[in-house]
Amino acid sequence: MTTRQLLDTLITNIGQLLTMEGKGPAKGEQMKKLSVLNHAAVGVKDGKIAFVGSAKQAEQLQAERVIDADGRLVTPGLVDPHTHLVFGGSREQEMTLKQQGVPYLEILKRGGGILSTVAATRNASEEELVQKAKLHLDRMLSYGMTTVEAKSGYGLDRQTELKQLRVVKRLKEEHPIDLVSTFLGAHAIPPEYQHDPEQFLAEMLELLDVVKAEQLAEFVDIFCETGVFTVEQSRAFLQAAQAKGFAVKIHADEIDPLGGTELAVELGAASGDHLVGASEAGIRKLAQSNTIAVLLPGTSFYLGKEAYAKARSMIDAGAAVALSTDFNPGSSPTENLQLIMSIAALKLKMTPEEIWHAVTVNAAYAIHRGEEAGRIAIGRKADLVIWDAPNYAYVPYHYGVNHVHMVWKAGRVVAERSRGDVIATTYAD
Ligand SMILES: [Zn+2]
Repeated sequence: MTTRQLLDTLITNIGQLLTMEGKGPAKGEQMKKLSVLNHAAVGVKDGKIAFVGSAKQAEQLQAERVIDADGRLVTPGLVDPHTHLVFGGSREQEMTLKQQGVPYLEILKRGGGILSTVAATRNASEEELVQKAKLHLDRMLSYGMTTVEAKSGYGLDRQTELKQLRVVKRLKEEHPIDLVSTFLGAHAIPPEYQHDPEQFLAEMLELLDVVKAEQLAEFVDIFCETGVFTVEQSRAFLQAAQAKGFAVKIHADEIDPLGGTELAVELGAASGDHLVGASEAGIRKLAQSNTIAVLLPGTSFYLGKEAYAKARSMIDAGAAVALSTDFNPGSSPTENLQLIMSIAALKLKMTPEEIWHAVTVNAAYAIHRGEEAGRIAIGRKADLVIWDAPNYAYVPYHYGVNHVHMVWKAGRVVAERSRGDVIATTYAD
């Protein structure tokens, strides 16, 4: 960039700048090394990154707005590759039932669990779902998340699944966060198909033609688990989705080691998600593949489970690991990816270096946005976060609070700390 060119924004006096420099997702050993620029500056022009360098070099530059980061940490906007963003209602009444030891199946029988969310989502209007999801998205923005995946899966019928996907399509227009849409019609077996899951899957497959025609989703996902869909059903379903031109993901091995991890690799899925019960053989296959392991430790934590995904084995074997909130009303009601970073440090024994790869570049690759999001580089969209943190290790360390100071989406300030609280400030013009 020439010194004559006027930048829109120059953020200078950055303490540590994480650019997440590299090629492709960070696998295994690559996750352990972070490239850190000290005393750095970043310039933004027309919504894109136009300068990355030292604060000293930046002294030559001119900008309409100069922001003194005062030694703070700056990173790419966070990417969340797995959320169930759009749903009706909430399930706080189940917390007491769980504490009393009421089993999940009993809660389901009483009309609770996922079925209560399905009922509430079926009953909600598209407008109600849009307004509710916007609140969640604003909160995500305030936590520094600028790219987020969103799944359907609380309709389990034609009309409601399409309604959820249309809500996401609208939010793509109406909210600054970049959304990536996934069809998860095969999230659970609805009561009316309890004895004929094959018929249900056939109907969900049929629905994919509408999803394709209206460009409502680019990924198809399925819940492969004991009591839900088998490995064989999942394979057939996802292969059929691939034949219709969709990329695939899979909720795999969350509880039992069924071989969902192996299936994700076999199908060339963008990601295998959960993977708590992944076998050693599955982990080895994962390491030799391009499939990203999306780990959701908030779910193990919130359900009070002892078992967490074996992130250490995965990284040491050479796999690319990403982290996500799994934001949903049942097993992980939080939009706070920073909290998940702390849980990953404490429960998955991931290092700060690994954690930052997992919430930026690897998360972006898990939703096929690796060439657009998760890295700071010249020409890329200016999705940036200034953190109220002196260094990158501080964010997972100081847990449970919001460390965001300022968030930019495509060069615009979209969240800012004001009187101690971080406020999402703007919607798309
Ligand atoms: Zn999920």
